[in-house]
Amino acid sequence: MRQKTALIYGFLLIFVIIIVHSVEENLKLLSMPFFVFGREIKLSTALSIAIFSGFFVFFVIALALGIDRILFYFFEKLKERSKRESEQIYFKGIDAMMQARPLEAIKHFRESILLNSHSVPAMIKLGDALREAGEVDEAIEWHKKSLLEDNKNITALYALATDYLRKENSEEAKKFLNEIISIQPKRALYALRLLRNIYIKEKNFYKAKEVQKKILKASVLKEEIKEDEIFTVTVDYEIYSLLLEQKRIDEAILGFESLKRNFPNFYPTYIKLSEALLLSGDEEYAFANLKEGFLNSGSIMPLLTMEKIFLEKGEPERAIKEYENIIANNKANHAPRFLLARLLFKLGFFDESESILKELEYELSHFYLLEYLLAKINERRQEYAKACSHYSEMFRIFKPQEFVFVCECGEKSEYYKDFCEKCLKCGTYHSDLEEELNKAIILKEPAYYNYSKSTL
Ligand SMILES: [Zn+2]
Repeated sequence: MRQKTALIYGFLLIFVIIIVHSVEENLKLLSMPFFVFGREIKLSTALSIAIFSGFFVFFVIALALGIDRILFYFFEKLKERSKRESEQIYFKGIDAMMQARPLEAIKHFRESILLNSHSVPAMIKLGDALREAGEVDEAIEWHKKSLLEDNKNITALYALATDYLRKENSEEAKKFLNEIISIQPKRALYALRLLRNIYIKEKNFYKAKEVQKKILKASVLKEEIKEDEIFTVTVDYEIYSLLLEQKRIDEAILGFESLKRNFPNFYPTYIKLSEALLLSGDEEYAFANLKEGFLNSGSIMPLLTMEKIFLEKGEPERAIKEYENIIANNKANHAPRFLLARLLFKLGFFDESESILKELEYELSHFYLLEYLLAKINERRQEYAKACSHYSEMFRIFKPQEFVFVCECGEKSEYYKDFCEKCLKCGTYHSDLEEELNKAIILKEPAYYNYSKSTL
């Protein structure tokens, strides 16, 4: 910097020396007259004026350029200041949102936008707050405005999808979800899940399956895959069920078979597959499949289905035989033994039923249906003392004389509570009996009143 200054001073000095020197050399010439529009002035004066006016013009231009810069700087400063203020008010709005005061938040976000009309975050948050306050249409307007500023803003696109879902307009919601997925095809897990659930709700299972495939590709963590896996079964199960409904039986059977291989614990497959097999005429495989269903899933639903089919066909003895087979071939057989005892009871084989139930009563903790069946059997035999002891055991389990207390949130308790741990409220527990008692207070209109009204 100093060197540069010294250089400039050096040049100026040389310039002055040159001028002084040339003035000395041309003194005679400079004192000669110079004419402007017929008026005589000295040549030296004319030259001085020329040099000075040159300097003056240069100075004016430099000054003008400088003012422009200053003005530009001033407006930028002003803009920045309102941007900063806008930001401060925006954070006030966020604070209000976090404290669940959406109306106050709306006020702050509006102010923030007035100060900075291009603030995308403020527009998005204003829309969110409006949605929270129930003004969904206005929320959509603001979210769309924010998209005009930044048309690939994922937050704005999610916000719009949420707005339309709130309005139950799934067509519009789908558009925005698809937009998100097209922008980030491998990361938009949340959008994909929302889209899949919309299709499931619409019973458009083929589309749901397409999305489900993308979800399984998109999710990375094992836990995340697990969360979505149940939908793979659900969607496929619904598709094959639809085929069955359309009487495309062979395709349905193929589908259910593959589902059975991939998800052996999912018991509904076995029930629907047996339905399809019965329609195709393969009765033996249908029943074998139901037994397999019980063994693989542990659910009694396939067995109950089998029992129902045999009873409808008028072959209860087949049902008994199948139960006996399963019991003989499997160690964990409490469930089929109980089902057999229940069936024998229904068919009137009380002695056989009782002997199984007695064994179960000894092996298992008592439960009310078991005690009820034993009581009923003894009652039929007119062994009232035994029947009564089973009935009282049933009452002991059932506790019908006790009150049950139910919270508004659905939580139940056997004893009175003033505070609910689930919904964290006091005074929300009421006895389930109260509803019944209150019902009894509302008396029906007497018949004669109805009669007199109708004859008017
Ligand atoms: Zn509660």
